Amino acid sequence: MVNKLIANKLLAYIAPYRCILCDQASPSQLDLCPACLAELPILKPPQCQICALPLASEHSHSCAKCLKKPPSFNTLVAGWRYQAPIDELINGFKYQAKLSHGKVLAQLLSERIKRHYDPSQLPTLLIPTPLHWRRWWQRGYNQSELLAQQLSRHLDITINRNLIRQLHTPKQQGLNARQRRRNLQKAFKIKTSRAIAGQCVAIIDDVVTTTATAEAMSQCLLAAGAAEVHVWCLARTPINL
Ligand SMILES: [Zn+2]
Ligand SMILES: [Zn+2]
Repeated sequence: MVNKLIANKLLAYIAPYRCILCDQASPSQLDLCPACLAELPILKPPQCQICALPLASEHSHSCAKCLKKPPSFNTLVAGWRYQAPIDELINGFKYQAKLSHGKVLAQLLSERIKRHYDPSQLPTLLIPTPLHWRRWWQRGYNQSELLAQQLSRHLDITINRNLIRQLHTPKQQGLNARQRRRNLQKAFKIKTSRAIAGQCVAIIDDVVTTTATAEAMSQCLLAAGAAEVHVWCLARTPINL
């Protein structure tokens, strides 16, 4: 028992990082061990250059939906596919206040973003997906705001909190795309557009499924004068409802 305690203390000293998935000491400077990191479901090409959905052929630039009706945002960058074990990590972060999950995922997403962009092309403002105050009050925190704080630190980009949710929308799960769109119409509002006008902005969200929420926010930001809207999320659900 004492030996085990000493061994654990020694291990914490040598390898202070602990894997959030397997709970083993992590030799990398990240609370995720290399074996578990390799298990995360990366979104691989070919994928739609606009909405990041997987594509059947590497010769196409965008998916059928984006070809038919392009979204108002310019591009979407997602860290992973929304499937095991990413769903477990995100749900822990979102619903069980496992903030260490958000920290690790945001660090990895910021590395993905650095690889994706030429530094001069990076957005200049981060816009966290707002929660209605009632949901914020129930949960105690806004996971998108926490993600934006981490990304802001890693990428040195300012957060802008002028996009607010003015209507409390019921949970989007179980609704089809049309119902979601109707639900989201007029849900968002810009408090003041001064800092947003003319800027390339990045919306920060945890999971993007139908893009209906991202589209509603994007339209609001463009109406406020944003020059470009990008969407950054931890995970993309690989279906198009
Ligand atoms: Zn692990
Ligand atoms: Zn697409």
